[in-house]
Amino acid sequence: MPDEDALRRIPSVAFLLETDDVKSLLARYPRAVVVDAIRKRLAALRLEAAAPGGAGARSREEWASALLARLSADIAAAEDLPLRPVINATGIVIHTNLGRAPLAEEAIRAVSATAGRYVNLEYDLAAGGRSSRLAIVEEAILALTGAEAAHVVNNNAAAVLLCLAGLARGRDVIVSRGELVEIGGSFRIPDIMAESGALLVEVGTTNRTRIEDYERAAGPRTALLLKVHRSNFSMSGFTEDVPAADLAALGARLGVPVMEDLGSGALFDFQAAGIPGTPTVRQALATGPGIVTVSGDKLLGGPQAGIIAGRKEIVSPLKKHPLSRALRMDKLCLAALAATLRLYADERRAVARVPVLRMMTEPENRVRARAKRLVRMAARAAAATPAPGGGGGLILAVERGFSSPGGGAMPDVEIPTACVSVSHPAVRVEEFEERLRKGIPPVVARVAKGKLLLDMRTVADGELRGLAAALVGAAAGRP
Ligand SMILES: *Cc1c(COP(=O)(O)O)cnc(C)c1O
Repeated sequence: MPDEDALRRIPSVAFLLETDDVKSLLARYPRAVVVDAIRKRLAALRLEAAAPGGAGARSREEWASALLARLSADIAAAEDLPLRPVINATGIVIHTNLGRAPLAEEAIRAVSATAGRYVNLEYDLAAGGRSSRLAIVEEAILALTGAEAAHVVNNNAAAVLLCLAGLARGRDVIVSRGELVEIGGSFRIPDIMAESGALLVEVGTTNRTRIEDYERAAGPRTALLLKVHRSNFSMSGFTEDVPAADLAALGARLGVPVMEDLGSGALFDFQAAGIPGTPTVRQALATGPGIVTVSGDKLLGGPQAGIIAGRKEIVSPLKKHPLSRALRMDKLCLAALAATLRLYADERRAVARVPVLRMMTEPENRVRARAKRLVRMAARAAAATPAPGGGGGLILAVERGFSSPGGGAMPDVEIPTACVSVSHPAVRVEEFEERLRKGIPPVVARVAKGKLLLDMRTVADGELRGLAAALVGAAAGRP
């Protein structure tokens, strides 16, 4: 027989929610997560209490402390996903190591609504037969870029590989020596060219390439003139480049297609918004290359994808190329891309809803207001954290700084921002940085000139509570 008295002494969820330990957990985790963990732990304790020779004689306080001792670890284990959300306080908007573009709510909803269900991916519901999986994004890409045709594959590296293999296998592709770039993660133009079976013909020098260089190298074996966006570096000094328009004119004269790998090509006009460096896909196509390729998860702000857009007679055959099947896009990314593109139908809506656009264009004073909010929230959280340890010693100040687009988007662009500098009299900067990185939630900060900085441009409003709790936790030496 269970000991009824013992069961009655087990604390209630409401009682536990009023304890300081649980309140501090509530500052870090969603309420539902905490309540769920309490319920599971209580169920285990009831079994313990009911067991013969169990701990039936415990007082309510003893039960509470037994439960609270394990609760934090329970929640950490439940939250310990293989791929964990982190707070990006680096100010690098497109951070490849941190997963590049966070998706818009609309894209997330599109993914979660379809991920666990069968979907009309390649099925025409009206006709009752097979259809193309890309139909739902193609029309939007044409409308947004002015292209005649579009194709989408797994990422931009795949897009470049497919274009080279499809347009130039066994034939020459002419590229400037100044554009034989390496993009992080082993994407190198000469290597991808070799894998595609196209033959690289380098022209010009590292710093200067002229239109005559392309002209001299062109011949009957030439299949393509390729221009590659210098995504992650810039050259200055004694340099010369062939504008895309001139290359397009040469291609037209020679009857050879021209391709531009834009890398981080945008659908939003950043230049008009005062951020130079990247043309829109529409602007790029208007200068004349027959075909451009862009990433889906860089400045576009969508899921991983490689978009090929341009003239119909160049793009359409690529869709039937055997590599298209090997490089094809998955349905979850497709759902997210379609939802992201839909937001672009109204530019103001895109800026408000696509996180990359919002972060890139947010005025400095708004970022500063968020920085001040973090300082206030952290001070409150520190005051509410009981000694020993507590949040004591944490010194926070708001200062100016510069964010960067990242992701090989605009190498020279610096966006004025507001940072929260973090210091502690008893903890070295490197130690504090490590504590934040290993904390809950993990926070990736920036260390510059011996200072620990949290750039608030890449921190969302919804992350402030977690970030404040993480700061107080790190100051107290807790995860
Ligand atoms: C980023 C980039 C790529 C690779 O794109 P992924 O989508 O990462 O595969 C290729 N070319 C340029 C110029 C880039 O900037």
